[in-house]
Amino acid sequence: RFSTEPGDEEPIKPPVEVKYTQLLINGNFVDAASGKTFPTADPRTGEVIARVAEGDEEDINRAVAAARRAFDEGPWPRMTAYERCRVLLRFADLMERHADEIAALESWDGGKPLEQTARAEVPMATRCMRYYAGWADKIHGLVVPADGPHHVQVLHELIGVAGQIIPWNFPLLMFAWKVGPALACGNAVVLKTAEQTPLSALYVASLLHEAGLPDGVLKVVPGFGPTAGGALASHMGVDKLAFTGSTGTGKIILELSARSNLKPVTLELGGKSPFIVMDDADVDQAVELAHQALFFNQGQCCCAGSRTFVHERVYDEFVEKSKARAERRVVGDPFKKGVEQGPQIDGQQFKKILGYVKSGVDGGATLVTGGDRVGSRGFYVQPTVFADVQDEMKIAQEEIFGPIQSILKFREVGEVVRRANATHYGLAAGVFTTSLDTANTLARALRVGSVWVNCYDVFDAAIPFGGYKMSGIGREKGAYSLRNYLQTKAVVTPLNDPAW
Ligand code: NAD
Repeated sequence: RFSTEPGDEEPIKPPVEVKYTQLLINGNFVDAASGKTFPTADPRTGEVIARVAEGDEEDINRAVAAARRAFDEGPWPRMTAYERCRVLLRFADLMERHADEIAALESWDGGKPLEQTARAEVPMATRCMRYYAGWADKIHGLVVPADGPHHVQVLHELIGVAGQIIPWNFPLLMFAWKVGPALACGNAVVLKTAEQTPLSALYVASLLHEAGLPDGVLKVVPGFGPTAGGALASHMGVDKLAFTGSTGTGKIILELSARSNLKPVTLELGGKSPFIVMDDADVDQAVELAHQALFFNQGQCCCAGSRTFVHERVYDEFVEKSKARAERRVVGDPFKKGVEQGPQIDGQQFKKILGYVKSGVDGGATLVTGGDRVGSRGFYVQPTVFADVQDEMKIAQEEIFGPIQSILKFREVGEVVRRANATHYGLAAGVFTTSLDTANTLARALRVGSVWVNCYDVFDAAIPFGGYKMSGIGREKGAYSLRNYLQTKAVVTPLNDPAW
């Protein structure tokens, strides 16, 4: 099917060196207290790119202590908001200057096509930092007209030390979404990267220091979930925890907060997002958009349009065209020009995805195309399309996190709303129609945090993002994310002369 089998080719040498592999604490790169390291692997081959310092509880304790000092005594929270804004703007400029290296690191560690990281991840992360830099000197409280002779001010104050835990599917963007608002407000941060993808966060954190961030304000601790992540989520010195990852881990994080200091938790979790195609839609456009909604980033998106609901009147044509599009998808070495899809992140995800393919076939769905690995090395999976998928099948219920499209047939709007909402998830939805009425009805009826009408995956930094139901708690991006990193204080003073 493919002109070359990417899993059999010699991998292209990435145009970047790995500079930083240690923990970033107090402005310096240091070894883990235990001296331990762990490998981060190239998804194209499974071979080790570099060994990285493995932070665990002792390192988290060190990092939190340093963050507390930076918050309680350091210059960052005491700088003027405009000075903080300028540090973040300088950082964004440095990201732009080093865009090629950042994109290459992100692609190497995560198996993402370089054209994608250069076109999407790096510019979006940069834009996100500029967006929050712009907020730094626009965060202010208010005066409320309470009853009685009182002057009532509401102050928005810093939350303190923020713990942040990010996943492997968008390491750079998740860094920006979390670090941007936390620092714009003036907080200190301890960030734990995912074990699969520590490299880009370490690199950009060094740029943030070059931009003038005082030492100790941002700590980056690579390490594993139950050890480093668990220590951060249960630390008594952490004032807030922001997490992105699976729903299962999100529940653990919430429990760890409850068992320690009840730190407020925001969660960005999984999804099983419906992409709904009405019979009045332009089928070719809908096919392309549904394809991108699912296959983008090797299908490893929390908001992947992983249940493609298609109206019965256009169903057969849609399935045929989706098959053709999936078969045209260029799978290959992420560093090769024109490649749309690289390998999956690691062997574990790769096996899990192929397990879902088997479950789809065994469950009676029609395998229209794909279904196998590509080549014999690394973690490449064929772009796969299932038709005749039924709601109760595992592939329609569970998050696959891979390049497997499931197409379901529906007859009318009320039915598709009911079926689209019949899930514990509620992250996002796509609606494809030329009818304004249908678009409005669906946009209001779907129990999800984002509805994209005749578009998908529009992720500007100003647009809030997050989940209903078990897809999460709270919102990131936009002004909404600032609330995650602020406390609200009411100050009440008597007014001795009520006339004024
Ligand atoms: P994961 O939950 O296993 O890991 C995410 C992060 O949590 C990693 O840094 C990991 O080390 C850490 N972690 C794991 N166990 C932990 C524990 N016991 N205590 C503390 N930290 C722990 O998820 P993943 O497999 O890395 O990422 C894929 C999942 O993330 C998918 O389910 C996807 O839907 C979800 N995701 C959601 C969003 C969103 O914005 N809603 C974005 C990206 C990914």
